[in-house]
Amino acid sequence: MTQKDYRVLLYYKYITIEDPVAFAEEHLALCKEIGLLGRILVGNEGINGTVSGTIEQTEAYMNHMKTDARFSDIMWKIDEAEGHTFKKMHVRPRREIVHLGLEDDINPLEITGDYLSPKEFMEQMQEDNTVIIDARNDYEYDLGHFRGAVRPDIENFRDLPAWMEAHKEDFADKKILTYCTGGIRCEKFSGWLKREGYGKSVGQLHGGIATYAKDPEVKGQLWDGQMFVFDRRRSVPINQVEHVVVGKDYFTGEPSERYTNCANPECHKLMLCEEKHEAFYMRSCSDECRRAPRNFFVEEHGWSKEQVEEQIAKIAEAQKSK
Ligand SMILES: [Zn+2]
Repeated sequence: MTQKDYRVLLYYKYITIEDPVAFAEEHLALCKEIGLLGRILVGNEGINGTVSGTIEQTEAYMNHMKTDARFSDIMWKIDEAEGHTFKKMHVRPRREIVHLGLEDDINPLEITGDYLSPKEFMEQMQEDNTVIIDARNDYEYDLGHFRGAVRPDIENFRDLPAWMEAHKEDFADKKILTYCTGGIRCEKFSGWLKREGYGKSVGQLHGGIATYAKDPEVKGQLWDGQMFVFDRRRSVPINQVEHVVVGKDYFTGEPSERYTNCANPECHKLMLCEEKHEAFYMRSCSDECRRAPRNFFVEEHGWSKEQVEEQIAKIAEAQKSK
């Protein structure tokens, strides 16, 4: 494989940042000067970022960060890319760098799950009496996940504690393993599990799925599907040994790993949808969205209200016959 000219950096660090607002302003100027694009959150509790740039630009950024004692030991997750994967550069001050929304917040520097290397994680996943909990959102799980992992029925990470509380007994005498994209969500979530007395032990995949995918020994094994990413790429491959498709077309349930957004700009829901089904379902998640006043699909095709209603009737017909 030839080396690509661009890279995506995924990273975080829980560390005290005294003045996140001033830091964010300075850091934005730095990123712009280097020529990076991406999204970085800064808070009193640390930094959480994804940026894209050329090899030179991303090297310059990592080198700069290494000169700052607070960030010198960041575990960088580096992907190759065809070009920039973001359109803009944002550095935003936030109260939390990942939003778990706890009244009594977790500081991972004080309490967090046991760090497991990709190899340790793969071994422990296969042990008896172990439960694997996906710490991501439902739409991320649906595109790909570790084989046998539990899918919490939540749309947002901040809803995870409530979901866990409702299922606490299921995990009482189990070894709990958690994982997320880059590891940042698990730092808090596994700390919370420990504090609240879940399971016999709590482990977290250090460096997240992104690190697991790159490990030369585990080669992403026991991962099914692809990994959802929060940039233009939408999804990246993980398992280098076999590829099992687990994603399902939103409308037909056929295997699918292709994302699209609902054509109603007010909704914009992410759906897995094969290209061949887009037109029939008007690229819209529901009849309500099909009738929405600014539906992009309707605008693109110049359809009248009657045409929209005709198509909605056809969709209803097709769904009835299933
Ligand atoms: Zn919709």
